[in-house]
Amino acid sequence: MALSVYNDLTRTKEKFVPIEEGRVRFYVCGPTVYNFFHIGNARPFVLFDVFRRYLESLGYEVTFIQNFTDIDDKMIRRANEEGTTVAELAERFIAEYYRDADALGIRRATVNPRATQEMPAIIDVIKRLIEKGHAYEIDGDVYFSVESFKDYGRLSKQSVDELISGARVEVDERKREPLDFALWKGAKPGEPFWESPWGKGRPGWHIECSAMSNKYLGSTIDIHGGGSDLIFPHHENEIAQSECANDAHFVRYWLHNAYLLIDKEKMSKSLGNFLTVRDVRQRISPLVLRFFLMSVHYRSPLNFSAEGLEHAKGAVERLNNCCTDLIFALENRSAGEKDEALRMALKANEEGFAASMDDDFNTAGAFGFIFENVRAVNVHLSEHEAVDKEGLEAAKAFFDKTNDILGYLVKEEKEGDGDAEIDELVAERSAARKAKDFKRSDEIRETLAAKGIIIEDTPQGPRWKRTM
Ligand SMILES: [Zn+2]
Ligand SMILES: [Zn+2]
Repeated sequence: MALSVYNDLTRTKEKFVPIEEGRVRFYVCGPTVYNFFHIGNARPFVLFDVFRRYLESLGYEVTFIQNFTDIDDKMIRRANEEGTTVAELAERFIAEYYRDADALGIRRATVNPRATQEMPAIIDVIKRLIEKGHAYEIDGDVYFSVESFKDYGRLSKQSVDELISGARVEVDERKREPLDFALWKGAKPGEPFWESPWGKGRPGWHIECSAMSNKYLGSTIDIHGGGSDLIFPHHENEIAQSECANDAHFVRYWLHNAYLLIDKEKMSKSLGNFLTVRDVRQRISPLVLRFFLMSVHYRSPLNFSAEGLEHAKGAVERLNNCCTDLIFALENRSAGEKDEALRMALKANEEGFAASMDDDFNTAGAFGFIFENVRAVNVHLSEHEAVDKEGLEAAKAFFDKTNDILGYLVKEEKEGDGDAEIDELVAERSAARKAKDFKRSDEIRETLAAKGIIIEDTPQGPRWKRTM
């Protein structure tokens, strides 16, 4: 088996072959840090991190770059509304981004470059584009000349005329052609600015991704990811800028995730169904949201609903319960005979998992095999008092390995996280039960339930589990 990915550039599934053996250069468009990020953005952030982890599990060294857009119109507007500076707004929401992303188990990128800290790289690309006749300056603004790039529309498979009629093109009398877009914007009074050869101003949005991917990954990169809403104009413009500046093919594999709906409607501020990750985290464990976002293949639309979350919650509990049961059995039950059925199921599930992930990162299919493994382990545990320890160890290794890639298990609580207190209450409850003080034992059960802890009485003694 070998990894194949669906490349939006060719609209086909292709075998994945990186530029350099053993190494992957991976760029993902990051958030504009003017607010908490919404669950539609969370989908690509979680998924592309999973793809990165899978590539690492295959032995690749992955350089993973995701930018922060910390200067643009939205940043300026929001800073003015809040009576703060753009820089302070960015600091605040970059910190909030990390809080939510960490909670969702999204690993930190190799580098998260920020537009405002990359001005020399950005200005350098714009200078090269002007020198080569791909960009022009008018009164302190610089525009990219779309006509100068014959391949414009290559990714979205549309002609320039089709793109013009289908898009909301910014009207600006000074542009040579309607699709020309700003690389540099002269500063208006009161706006933050940086010095440049064209006067005080700030970069356009598209140029920052070209400059940062070039600086951190080189002129040709392996994978560029983002939401499908970025294909036009953002990624079309990135291709134009990068290929004209570097005279090199920009991206080998373009991967885009499909959109997310909320109760079958598009998420929008005007519909009042705009949900941030922070909102959702008030209601459910981030692990449940994470699972939900991975539960459908990335190129299929995902519908967010209370019912879907409830289903995800049940699934995550089932996965975690199976793993705690398995560990408990390994520690507390005696060793029994080899169980062929358990071992054969495991082998099939290992193969199925790898085949699913190799097939364009099919996370939904991969979870199917993990649940098959849950079923096999549960059957073994219920049918055998003395367990196949070697078989269970192998099943546990499969859960651990797939968890490293997908992230669905609750992290083992560190000492001092309240486990000692829970153990104490559980012990006190056992003592109360022994003394037939059922009032006290019920009280303790309720106290624990309020903390999301469920006690289970087993032949090996009481044990507790966390609910999601
Ligand atoms: Zn991009
Ligand atoms: Zn971008």
